[in-house]
Amino acid sequence: MAEKIEITISCPKCNFSQTKNIYKSINASTDGEIKDLILNRELFTFTCDNCDHKALIDYDFLYHDPENKVMIYFLKDYDEKEDNLYRNIPKPSEDYKMRIVKSASDLIEKIKIFDMGFDDRVIELCKLFYLGNMRETNPEFITDHIYYDTDKNLVNSVFVFMNKEGKPAVAGLDKDFYNQVFKMYEERIIKREKSSFEIIDKTWAESFINKK
Ligand SMILES: [Zn+2]
Repeated sequence: MAEKIEITISCPKCNFSQTKNIYKSINASTDGEIKDLILNRELFTFTCDNCDHKALIDYDFLYHDPENKVMIYFLKDYDEKEDNLYRNIPKPSEDYKMRIVKSASDLIEKIKIFDMGFDDRVIELCKLFYLGNMRETNPEFITDHIYYDTDKNLVNSVFVFMNKEGKPAVAGLDKDFYNQVFKMYEERIIKREKSSFEIIDKTWAESFINKK
């Protein structure tokens, strides 16, 4: 069940002070409608009771998906080097994936990856290969960042490349290629698995590839 707390918040436009309910934790199996609010970003939108002004708010909370055995902590100011808390929280069971993300976009990306039955570490490794391929075949496109996405019907997976000007380029994820990468690195991935929360991103993938 979702766990709510009340916070007092002042509207950035009219300064009106009001209380809002925010979530401390969300269970994807029982709180499907809240999960939808995450995926369409409504959960991170504040609407003023007084003037209807809309603004983005993000706040820390835990996303738990017991079906997929996934826990994702959304901690926007997380500092890995200072962390003595989250990295010591044990997994509920061996086969759980525990992640920390620092932005709403990263949270949404992770949820989609796990919902499609993919391993986010393999996806991060695939991204590196797709980036290399993009540099070779389309050198004039300078990628600022790349993210995983699905179509509306949750059938097809794509990588979206964004350049500095915010222009996107899209490449379909080849499932055979994904499986190849998975097979190639599975053993090493399992060996490097932490027993608690960790950040799985581009930095993780680069360090994984560079350390033999
Ligand atoms: Zn207002």
